[in-house]
Amino acid sequence: MIPGTTAGDLTCSRAGCRTKADFRIEWRNPRLHSPDRVKAWLACDDHVDYLREFLGAREFPLRVVGADAPTATEPLP
Ligand SMILES: [Zn+2]
Repeated sequence: MIPGTTAGDLTCSRAGCRTKADFRIEWRNPRLHSPDRVKAWLACDDHVDYLREFLGAREFPLRVVGADAPTATEPLP
């Protein structure tokens, strides 16, 4: 267990999925969010592509990092 986290933090964000997430998708909606306002979804191996395509289809800027990567401070373009 990593200090500063709580158990259950890393569950996939896909509705109905209880799988432990291996990825974090950081994204924002340019119409609602300023560049420094980054949202994050967690994704398991099965759903990372689904969630990335869901956001990509809306042309939201996004990046995929490891689920346990440090929280990003860099704005999304
Ligand atoms: Zn999942």
